[in-house]
Amino acid sequence: MHIYEFQELMRRLYFHRDSQRGVEKTFEWLVEEVAELGEALKVDDKKTLEDEFADVIAWLASLANVADINLEKAALNKYDNKCPKCGRLPCQCTF
Ligand SMILES: [Zn+2]
Repeated sequence: MHIYEFQELMRRLYFHRDSQRGVEKTFEWLVEEVAELGEALKVDDKKTLEDEFADVIAWLASLANVADINLEKAALNKYDNKCPKCGRLPCQCTF
């Protein structure tokens, strides 16, 4: 499955609700899910971690739908087989 297909799945599942909620409130949900992922990273439980990663990408896709952004196109345009800063693969930027 491509990122675009996953985003379309989220659209079919949730756009009727996401569009009602709007960009700001959908963003707040994404932030909450990122915080939950942060908590899950502190615990040694792969299933919980997988669930939280899933929630983060689902809410990111929902937010992209509400903001009318094609996530796959945006990601691949910026990360076009090279680091957007140094232009190298692998990245050779200094820390
Ligand atoms: Zn780089």
